Amino acid sequence: MVDQEKVKKAIELLIEGIGEDPAREGLVDTPERVARMYTELCAGYDDDAKVHLSRTFTAEGSEAVIETGITFYSLCEHHLMPFFGEVSIAYIPNGKVAGLSKLARTVEVYARRLRIQERMTGEIADAIMDELGAKGVLVVVRAEHMCMSMRGVKKPGTQTLTTASRGILSEDSRLRDEILKMMN
Ligand code: ZN
Repeated sequence: MVDQEKVKKAIELLIEGIGEDPAREGLVDTPERVARMYTELCAGYDDDAKVHLSRTFTAEGSEAVIETGITFYSLCEHHLMPFFGEVSIAYIPNGKVAGLSKLARTVEVYARRLRIQERMTGEIADAIMDELGAKGVLVVVRAEHMCMSMRGVKKPGTQTLTTASRGILSEDSRLRDEILKMMN
């Protein structure tokens, strides 16, 4: 749960710390505005993938379910700067499938927190694996990190790609390659 009062105080200090005047007209409401914004950006802490993935349907067979182009926005835990991009998810069901919007919800649960991309990718894979009892999961995340685009090496447009595979999609490289091809 985001403590808006604390965030507000922190932003006041930040504004002072960078040498700005927190009392000037354009900045006077900024701490409160930022505090409200963080409540939304960090809503994932109060959400649980279990809740979304518990609404399942029975499915015959074990053909792959693939969903691509799920957009997300997260905050890098090293710089508190946004990283954002697209998630693709594939899983091999074991009698249970989730509604397609629930996969996007699961992405939101882990994206709306302070994260590194690698961990977020793994958490999405684990949630689908555990909650759906899937035979295998493959998650691919492609993202741009503002901490790389705006500072340091300053390489705008650079994409960071992370993957996480579980179960049969971790063990069977031929099947994984086939699904990766379909994802692209
Ligand atoms: Zn960063």
